[in-house]
Amino acid sequence: MSADELKHRATAEVDRLAPTLVALSRDLHAHPELMFEEVHAHRALTDVIEAEGLNVERHAHGLDTAFRADAGDTGPIVAVCCEYDALEEIGHACGHNVIAAAGLGAGLAAAAIAVAAGGRIRLLGTPAEEGGNGKGLMFTDGAFADVDAALMVHPGDRDFDRMTTLAVSIVDVTYLGHASHAAAAPWLGRNALDAAVNAYNAVSTLRQQLAPDQRVHGGFESVPTRSNVIPERVSMRWVCRGATMTSMRSVLSRMIACLKGGGEAAGCEVDLGKPREGSQVLDNDPLVGCYVANAAVDGRTHVAPGPATGHVFGSTDMGIISRNIPSIHPVIGLAPEGVALHERAFAAAAGSTDGDRAVIDGAKAMARTVVDIWLDAELRSTAWEQLRTDNAADPMS
Ligand SMILES: [Zn+2]
Ligand SMILES: [Zn+2]
Repeated sequence: MSADELKHRATAEVDRLAPTLVALSRDLHAHPELMFEEVHAHRALTDVIEAEGLNVERHAHGLDTAFRADAGDTGPIVAVCCEYDALEEIGHACGHNVIAAAGLGAGLAAAAIAVAAGGRIRLLGTPAEEGGNGKGLMFTDGAFADVDAALMVHPGDRDFDRMTTLAVSIVDVTYLGHASHAAAAPWLGRNALDAAVNAYNAVSTLRQQLAPDQRVHGGFESVPTRSNVIPERVSMRWVCRGATMTSMRSVLSRMIACLKGGGEAAGCEVDLGKPREGSQVLDNDPLVGCYVANAAVDGRTHVAPGPATGHVFGSTDMGIISRNIPSIHPVIGLAPEGVALHERAFAAAAGSTDGDRAVIDGAKAMARTVVDIWLDAELRSTAWEQLRTDNAADPMS
């Protein structure tokens, strides 16, 4: 069967599934769940997969709310990732309900034609994108073994061929001082809260000297609640980011100097955790081009993010997957221009008819891309070549 015929069948399959996919997107939107607690989403997604006749492994790869479903007998393996975690208080303000439903549609449509096409599809439910590194944990457990390409789409305010993702590092720091009576003998104390505030202020001044792609932000994890005792222990979490590993690491070393200096000034011990690094997404150009062409069929015109076109910023656990497997992480528009991720207005858009349209268009564009990857050996080898080049340009270690 030709690529065109297979794509036609995949598109028709998404159309057949459309009411189910849209209902699922709306259902997840109405039941937002935090990372690693996506019980409702896990059940809803796996029930649909089973009802469509696929074997699905629930609680896959050691994670309660992960799943995996494989289809096809032989040939190249394409993985499609479904995210479905939400955010505290602001719900699906990252639109992961749309990611889940679009991924499900693409996976089921591809499964329906896998044998005829001579390819294999792996539908992965990847929990805890918002800070839990779900995909990283699943990768370590072998969820992406033998995969030739990994696909997903992320919602945004426009159709971008890629997201402006940033490499990231998370550092936990605890300041250890000495408790004493705040009035009777303050001179005997060493104030851990002062150490943390010193560090916070030092980072705030550092921000003025950062490049446009660099970010530093932090928060207090545990703070003293008594005012009559010199605080002896305060914990913070700090995050720094940059467009490349090199850029991110240059901020990291300057941020750590601020964290240490704050402690030293207050005479406190600084217990610094090991930085936990994540990569920016290495968007695989050959596969990006393929996706963009397949999305154009439904009238979606993609642009590259930049000063003239705008950006959708973020860091994601898809970064580590993209370091190891040719991957795409395009942005599918569903919100009014200028509405950013993690805004309440974005949550509203993710549950609107524009969100529903993104589910269907995203599913179709990915399903057609799967067909191209299955059938085109040259595309696959060019994609792997590109991955090697991108890795060498900004190594992870
Ligand atoms: Zn998010
Ligand atoms: Zn997101």
